[in-house]
Parts: sequence; C-alpha cells; structure tokens
Amino acid sequence: SLTIGIVGLPNVGKSTLFNALTRNDVLAANYPFATIEPNVGVVGLPDARLDRLAEIFGSEKIVPAPVSFVDIAGLVRGASQGQGRGNAFLANIRDASAICQVVRAFSDPNVVHVDGKVSPADDIETINTELILADLQTVEKALPRLQKEAKLRKDRAAVVAAAEAAAALLDSGRTLYAGAAEAGIDVEALRELHLLTTKPFLYVFNVDEDELGNAAFLDELRALVAPAEAVFMDAKVESELIDLPDAEARELLESIGQSEPGLHQLIRVGFGTLGLQTYLTAGPKEARAWTVPVGATAPEAAGVIHSDFQRGFIKAEIVSYDDLVAAGSMAAAKAAGKVRMEGKDYTMRDGDVVEFRSGL
Ligand code: GDP
Repeated sequence: SLTIGIVGLPNVGKSTLFNALTRNDVLAANYPFATIEPNVGVVGLPDARLDRLAEIFGSEKIVPAPVSFVDIAGLVRGASQGQGRGNAFLANIRDASAICQVVRAFSDPNVVHVDGKVSPADDIETINTELILADLQTVEKALPRLQKEAKLRKDRAAVVAAAEAAAALLDSGRTLYAGAAEAGIDVEALRELHLLTTKPFLYVFNVDEDELGNAAFLDELRALVAPAEAVFMDAKVESELIDLPDAEARELLESIGQSEPGLHQLIRVGFGTLGLQTYLTAGPKEARAWTVPVGATAPEAAGVIHSDFQRGFIKAEIVSYDDLVAAGSMAAAKAAGKVRMEGKDYTMRDGDVVEFRSGL
C-alpha cells in the first residue's frame, strides 16, 4: 500500500503529530481512522464531496480514500553510519512512497533541541544529508557487484551507468528526486536499489500558534524547501483539537485564524505527493472515494474495486461531481445529458462519479 514515512530529528514533534493524525476524526466524524501497528496509521482523506454525495444518494455511510502514515523514529545525525537506530530506521523508510519531514520551528525553551538551537534550515540540511549519505552508501556498495554483472550481461550496462551517475550526483550533495532528470539519470534502472532520495519529499513545519498568521515568516520557511510542498501547523494545538467537541475545536481554530485543522491539509498534500487522485462511487449503501494513479484508465480504475471488474470491463457510466451536484440528482444529470458512457481507453479524472458495467 502507499505509505508516507514521517521523519525528523528527535524532539521536533513527530510523535505529537502522528498521534494527532491517527485520531484525526475532529470536525470529520465521517472519516474514521485505524492504527494497524503502533507506528502505522491509516487515515481517511478529508473530502467534502463525499458528504454531498451521501446526501444525494441517501447513502448509509461514507468511506474515504485511505492514506497511510508511518512514524519512522530514530533519524539522528550519523544514522547512515549506524548511529541511533540507524539501520532499523533505514529499513523502515525504504517501504514508504513519499517522505514527510517534520521540522521544528517552534521556540519553546522547555523543549530541548538536539543541536542546541532552533534552526529549520540546519535541521532540513541534517536530515537531507543523512538520506543522501544512506543512498550514496547503498550505491557504492552495489557498484562492484553491478559492474561484475555487466561484464557477463549486456543488459546490465544501463544499471551500471545509472548507478555511477547517481553516485556522482549524491556525492555533490543533491537528492535523486531533485537532480536525476537534469543529470539524465535513468531512475527506473535504479529501482532495484530501493534508494531513499528518489522519493518525493514534503515538509511539515511545526510552528508556534501565534506564527500561523505570520505570512512573512511562513514564506521564509516555504522558500527553504520549494518546490517541495510545505504544510504549517502547531502540533501541540492539533493534539489539543482532537480532544475537544466539534464546536469548541472550531472555536479554537478560529481563534488562531485557521479554517481547518492542519492535519487535514497534511493528509491532502501528502495524498497529492503520492501522485494519486480519487474517483467516487455512490449508492444507498455507501458513498466512497477510490484511489487511482493520475493517468489511470477506466478498466484500471475498475480493477481497484475488484480485479473481476477490470477483466470483465465493458463500459463506465460517468458524470463529473460538479455536473452531478449542479443537476441535483442522477436522474436530472442524465436528463441534462451530463452522464457519459466511456470505454476502455478513457482516462479517469479526479472527481468522476462512476458506475462500472462489467460482463462478469
Ligand atoms: P519527537 O521526538 O519528534 O517525536 O517529538 P515529540 O512529539 O515527542 O515532542 C517533543 C516535545 O516537544 C514534547 O514535549 C512535545 O510536547 C513538545 N512539542 C511538540 N510539538 C510542539 C509544539 O508545536 N509546540 C511546543 N511548544 N511544543 C511541542
């Protein structure tokens, strides 16, 4: 499954955020969560469209698209050298599809900073350096073997070339995600090495609540990580929100100038970072969001519900969410000519409301 790994230096608020995340039903009672293992949480992607669909179709329940987060503890300076939980940490993070780095930007003098001072730029650098060093080690360790293989098998030459170019790029202090395209490195050829810096990064800045409205401050932080996505929140406030009744949670958010919990933003941005989009199904039983990669075809989308649906795919009856809501009902949307029959070459769009016709 597609998982976002949460990393960061010790004491930046990772656990606080993770705990809040896996109990994020505040102001979204319809979006349940589950904690699979102590460090893995599946949360529902907040999606107001599902509430509206449930109204239109009289659905009994709402099933949001799942997004998984793993709390990957143990990244410290020197992790790639086996400091801290070193290798256990690295094994955990290899399975993640994207990496979410939590960065401390709050000032509380009672919370010790591992490096003695609060410096988001330095912390980001420290973590990135560890990830880059870990990849460099992996590549350098693999290279002699890859070169040997290439002597016997011509088709391995591309992997060697990619690995050598990757080593040079990493050695210059850049991540593969940021630099591979420019350097002409074939990242696909490196897939077998399970490198960390090929994954997309996103950043959560854990800021003091009274800085959430300070646009200049947030812009400074955003500039540190652009073009990667940045989300801002006060993890402590987020963890307080989850224990409040909705009305009080809303009041607290309002008092700090926020229209929704920072966690909702994080889940949405995280989902986007994974290169995914959702399509919707609705009926009396449930209104539900399904996850497909951007660019998925209609049969591939059907396959997410059931593999039989993909094999037996005939056509899909599709209306865009906006057209459906504008019409007010499925019947009205049909009468207005907004419901289309699409075949197996159709590329899914975010917010398509779908009914598949299958021959099985
Ligand atoms: P981790 O080591 O990154 O998992 O950090 P924790 O979540 O355990 O947080 C470390 C300490 O910082 C705890 O005492 C938290 O209560 C505190 N903390 C976390 N987030 C915030 C925040 O946004 N503001 C303040 N003032 N303290 C925070």
